[in-house]
Amino acid sequence: MTLIKKIFNKIKKFYHLKILKKRYYRFGECKKCGCCCENIYIRHEGKVIKSEEEFENIKKKDSYSFYRHIKVISKDDFGLVFSCNKFDKEKRLCLEHKNRPSICRNYPSEEIFSFGAQLQEGCGFCFEPIVSFEEVFKKVGRNKKNIYNDSSKVVRS
Ligand code: SF4
Ligand code: SF4
Repeated sequence: MTLIKKIFNKIKKFYHLKILKKRYYRFGECKKCGCCCENIYIRHEGKVIKSEEEFENIKKKDSYSFYRHIKVISKDDFGLVFSCNKFDKEKRLCLEHKNRPSICRNYPSEEIFSFGAQLQEGCGFCFEPIVSFEEVFKKVGRNKKNIYNDSSKVVRS
């Protein structure tokens, strides 16, 4: 790796970790399969919407247009499951792709991991940790007093 590329990678890492506070790099591109436009959980103010009553209250207070385009289709232990009326099921396309809301524009973001979700099977995106396991182990290995070096200890976190 050239010196310029190394410097660029360090700046990129710093920017993502310290400024954007991200833990993963996102790679790839959308294959336009439409899978993420069906059976949607919605997170509002950091929490997945769990009940219809909660959703009705959110709609009353929040003028976000996306909430007017979605409909509850079921519910499971995780929360309400929605469909979107801007999704053309036959063509598997968003009817408002150019004007789609930020919640769709930003998909997928690493926040999906923080509440236990995953990418759809076959999604063209993938995530890679910014700090690799190798780097973490190298850092830990430098600190001789660290309990990770003591094989009699089990660390669960
Ligand atoms: S699941 Fe992934 S590849 Fe498919 S439409 Fe959504 S973002 Fe694009
Ligand atoms: S607005 Fe478009 S991109 Fe967003 S969920 Fe609906 S169909 Fe998909």
